[in-house]
Amino acid sequence: MIISYKERIASRLTLVTAMIVLVVFAIIYLVVDFTVVQSIDRELKLETDKHVGQIFLVDGEIRFVHKDEWQEQEHSQIQLNPIFIEIVDMQGNSMDKSPNLGENHLSFSGDKREKNEAWTLKTGGREVRQMQIPLNHAGKREGFMLVAKSFEDARQLLTNLRNILLILYPGILISLFLSMRFLAGKSIQPIQKIIQKTNLISQSNLNERIPVAEPNDEIAQLTRSINDLLARLEQALTREKQFTSDASHELRTPLAVMRGTLEVLIRKPRTSEEYVEKVKLALESIDRMSEMIDQLLSLARVGKGKMVRDEVELTSFTQAFAQQSAEESGREILFETNLSKPIFRLVNEKSLQMILNNLLQNAIKYSSSSSKIIMQVGSHEGAPFILVKDEGKGITSDSLAKIFDPFYRELDETGAAVPGTGLGLAIVKKLALESEIQVEVESEKGRGSIFRLIF
Ligand code: ADP
Repeated sequence: MIISYKERIASRLTLVTAMIVLVVFAIIYLVVDFTVVQSIDRELKLETDKHVGQIFLVDGEIRFVHKDEWQEQEHSQIQLNPIFIEIVDMQGNSMDKSPNLGENHLSFSGDKREKNEAWTLKTGGREVRQMQIPLNHAGKREGFMLVAKSFEDARQLLTNLRNILLILYPGILISLFLSMRFLAGKSIQPIQKIIQKTNLISQSNLNERIPVAEPNDEIAQLTRSINDLLARLEQALTREKQFTSDASHELRTPLAVMRGTLEVLIRKPRTSEEYVEKVKLALESIDRMSEMIDQLLSLARVGKGKMVRDEVELTSFTQAFAQQSAEESGREILFETNLSKPIFRLVNEKSLQMILNNLLQNAIKYSSSSSKIIMQVGSHEGAPFILVKDEGKGITSDSLAKIFDPFYRELDETGAAVPGTGLGLAIVKKLALESEIQVEVESEKGRGSIFRLIF
C-alpha cells in the first residue's frame, strides 16, 4: 500500500496532537473532579462543624442544645441542598436520622472512625458524599454522627464533562487530520509540478529547465539543483557527441588515405617498387589508426576499475624515467633536482608513468632533435612538483586553453606534419584528475613549453 507524503505528514502530526490533546483532556477532567469533590467536602465539613456542637450523646441518649433551632435549620436546608444526618452508637446501630433519609441509612464505617475524611457511597439509589464524626461526652466516646451530602449534581457535572470531552476528542482529531492533509497537499503542490516537469524532460529536450518558483526556499533550491544537474548532463552529452563525431572524423582520414592508395594500386599493373611504396603508405595509415584506437581505449579506461595507490619516491622515479627515455629516444634528457631529501607521494605508478610519457613524447615531438629537454623534481610552497621543459616550438596563448581537449591539435604554420592524434593531453588531464594531480602549462611561441605536475 502506498501512503502519499501528505497523508504521512498529516497522520504523524495528528498522532502527536492526539497524544497532547488526550493529556490535556485528562488533566481538565481530573482538575474539575478534584475541585468539585473538594468543594463538596468543604461544605460537608462546615455542616459537620455546625452540627457537632448542637448534638450530644449522653448515656445512650441524644440531646440537643437547641432542638427547635436545629430542626428549623435542618428543615430549611433539606429543601435546597439535602444534608442527611444519622446518629449511631458505638456499634453502628442507628439511634436517630434526618427525615429526608426516609427508609435509607447512611453507612457506618469502623475504619474511618478516627479520620476526619469524606467518602462517596450509594444510599437508596442516590450517590452521596459522607463524613463520620465521633460524639464524645465527658471525655468518653458515646457514638458517631454521620453527615452526608448529595453528590448527584457533581456526578452529573462530571459525567457531562466526560461525555463532552469524549465527543470532542475524535471530532478534533478528524478535523485536524483533514486540515493537515489539505495543508500538506497544498505545501507539496510545487513539488508535484517539479515532478511533472522533470518527467517531461528526456534526451531530446535536455535543454529545457524547470521554472524556479518564488520565494527562495528549499523548493526553489531543489529546482535549482535539478536544473544544475540537467545542465551538467547536457554538457556531458554534448561533449560525448562531439567526441564521437571527432573520433569518427579522425579515423576516417587514414581510412580515406588507405582507400585512395589501394584504388590507385588496382587501376593498372604496377612495378614492384610502386607496390612496395603504396603498401607502405597503407601500412602507415593502419599504424595511425591503431595508435588512435589504442589512445581512445586508454582514454576510455581511465577512471574505470579500482585505482591502486603506492608510495612512490618522486625523485628517483623521475630520474629513472628520464634515463630510460633518453636511451630509448636517443635525445638529451637532463634530470635536475634541488631536493636533498627523498619525497614520497601516494600515487598510481602506472598513471604517473603514462602522464610523464605523454608529456615527454610531446616535448620530443615538438622540439628540434638538437635541443635539450629537462625533467625537474622540486618543491614549491611545500607542494612537490615534476616538470617537463622543452625548447621547442611552443604553444600560442589562444591554444593553451584548448590543448587538453580531445583531438585538439595546433595548426602548424610551417606545414610540417608532426604525427599525432590530439588525444595525448586529454589522457594526461583525465589521469591527473583521477590521481588528484594538478597540471599547469606555461609556453611561449617559438621558445618552448613547461608542463608542471603539482602533487
Ligand atoms: P598530439 O601530440 O597527438 O597532437 P596532444 O594531446 O598530446 O596530441 O597535444 C595536443 C596539441 O598540443 C598538440 O597537437 C600540440 O599542438 C600542442 N602541444 C602539446 N605539447 C606541446 C609541446 N611540448 N610543445 C608544443 N606544442 C605542444
